[in-house]
Amino acid sequence: MKILRSMFSLLSLGFVTIRFDMQLSIIPYPHPTLRVRSKPIRRVDKELRNMAAQMLDLMYEAEGVGLAANQVNLPLRIFVANPSGEKGDGEELVLINPELEMPKGSVTGQEGCLSLPAVFGQVKRPKSIRLKAFDLKGNPVDRIVDGFLARVIQHEKDHLDGVMFFDRMIEEAKREIDDQLHELETVFESKRNTGSIASDEELLAELDQWYEKYA
Ligand SMILES: [Zn+2]
Repeated sequence: MKILRSMFSLLSLGFVTIRFDMQLSIIPYPHPTLRVRSKPIRRVDKELRNMAAQMLDLMYEAEGVGLAANQVNLPLRIFVANPSGEKGDGEELVLINPELEMPKGSVTGQEGCLSLPAVFGQVKRPKSIRLKAFDLKGNPVDRIVDGFLARVIQHEKDHLDGVMFFDRMIEEAKREIDDQLHELETVFESKRNTGSIASDEELLAELDQWYEKYA
């Protein structure tokens, strides 16, 4: 998730292998993986820890406050966050298989997303939620979160369900960003036509690799 401040796989289809030292990158809207409902993670290994560290690096580089696995083309239930957006400052979180319960209250605030640079909009969300998840060491997390962190966590958890923040914007507000979305769709489509982005078939094969390994 990106907030206005104040606020791959090297897959060889022939050999079907995923490189352990793969470099993740943020995929842009409307990449199909952003609409995938990610699967729960059954095991954590060195590669997954390494990918979580890369996600944090990518998040800080892009001046974000949260980044979900779907956004780096991983169909797995993990996201990283730091509401301060600054490495070494604030609270850095890596959350696996998050579940959100007991939504309370309602508050509207501005959101943006690292998958849609320069697109911002007002989103209404519960004010506080109970967060249940696991950290990278397998320790359970169970706490009530509110304020800005609650917004970040809800935005990132949505990504794992294939939900984008603008899906939750009211129709009137969404209309204001429609042109920007359309432009991103056109750019993506032309990249696909030139073959610089994999076909749906190739992408599905990549996602299957991750399911087999971790889900
Ligand atoms: Zn986002």
